[in-house]
Amino acid sequence: MTGVLRPGHVQLRVLDMEAGVHHYRDILGMQETGRDAEGRVYLKCRDEFDHHSIILRETDQAGMDFVGFKVLDLPTLDDFEKKLQAYGVETHRIAAGDLLETGERVRFTTPSGHQVELYAEKTLVGNGCGDTNPKPWDPKVTHGISPVRMDHLLLFGPNVPETLKLFTEVLGFNLVERVLGPDGETNIIVFLSCSIKSHDIAFAHYDEPGKLHHVSFLMDSWEQVLRGGDIMSMEDVPVDIGPTRHGVTRGQTIYAWDPSGNRFEIFKEDRQPYPDHPPLTWTLDGLGAGGGLDYVQRKLHETFLSVVT
Ligand code: FE
Repeated sequence: MTGVLRPGHVQLRVLDMEAGVHHYRDILGMQETGRDAEGRVYLKCRDEFDHHSIILRETDQAGMDFVGFKVLDLPTLDDFEKKLQAYGVETHRIAAGDLLETGERVRFTTPSGHQVELYAEKTLVGNGCGDTNPKPWDPKVTHGISPVRMDHLLLFGPNVPETLKLFTEVLGFNLVERVLGPDGETNIIVFLSCSIKSHDIAFAHYDEPGKLHHVSFLMDSWEQVLRGGDIMSMEDVPVDIGPTRHGVTRGQTIYAWDPSGNRFEIFKEDRQPYPDHPPLTWTLDGLGAGGGLDYVQRKLHETFLSVVT
């Protein structure tokens, strides 16, 4: 991993900041790490080292403003900027400090209509466990559902094949799994990795551009996913699907909604694809009756394709 490292932050739009902060901080179990002059609230998960991974902005429409990927260093950032421009993608720079504790960002729009940015610098705050003879976890910050990290996103929009091409040819991602459309040829959902995660980002076909399907948070174990489901029930968090296993990516999962209607997932990784592994292919039937979405119930839940923000 020397280019794009991981999805490092997502700015989510929430309808009510107090309810949003209660959800992400108190129920999900993130730590609040800052608030800026615009009223945005910054949060991180317990085993993340950088200052924040989720930024909440209050407005009147839910969804995602942008997702930022951390790259190795500043020369890598400059290099990707040149490669994007050479590929014909318009980019612009956002000044350091526009997001708290974050360096310059290079922003562009994907063919799917999403605002994506790259950045190299964010203040390292650590996970509270120490650097020498570290603790395995920090009891001071472990509360609520308590995911390890913000893990990946599924975004809905048009032009999935063009978006796949941009991420693989310019940004160095690998295609890990895909779902083919009714013609049996066109990729309608693609799962892309810049690491050996089953996916760092995924895109699915949708007529409207720029939509968020879900932001996913990694759990330590399947047992912790179930425990997270218990907390969702105790706290009246509306659950969409699960607990179950996705056939696609093999992830163990619960989908649910935040108070603004943004879908989030708690998820245990169950697959580590190396870049030389061939991509796995699912048919449209495979996504539903084949268990691609829900391997236990083997059905295509109606909300999966229709509810986005
Ligand atoms: Fe997911």
